[in-house]
Amino acid sequence: MVSEDCLFCRIVRGEIPADIVAEDDRWLAFRDIQPQAPVHVLVIPREHVESVGSLSTDDGGLAGELMLAAAEVARIEGVAESGFRVVTNVGERAGQSVFHLHVHVLGGRRMRWPPG
Ligand code: AMP
Repeated sequence: MVSEDCLFCRIVRGEIPADIVAEDDRWLAFRDIQPQAPVHVLVIPREHVESVGSLSTDDGGLAGELMLAAAEVARIEGVAESGFRVVTNVGERAGQSVFHLHVHVLGGRRMRWPPG
């Protein structure tokens, strides 16, 4: 997909509003529009990457920053101590619906395992 048409690229560019929780020069964290838990925040890279499956060996730094951002979001949202889930779906069959890499940060309720 061309990044001009990508929903999350449009959020990065400020063309679509988002409820931003935290941001850095490389990533943005905003509330999911259809929350699946009391805390449900998405962390995305500002640059367009389709999914974890399309990261290259050069992207190790970015991948690490997204994990650190997820932990920061959990602290900001007050779920770092109570527990939270960090998940990223890769591909339509795994539940990916937006093809711009994003990490879900979910918390504020008990999580079940395995996921459906
Ligand atoms: P996934 O299904 O893993 O690709 O996750 C995509 C997520 O993006 C879903 O949880 C959607 O609810 C969420 N989403 C879709 N559009 C928006 C939007 N405009 N603002 C915030 N979250 C969105």
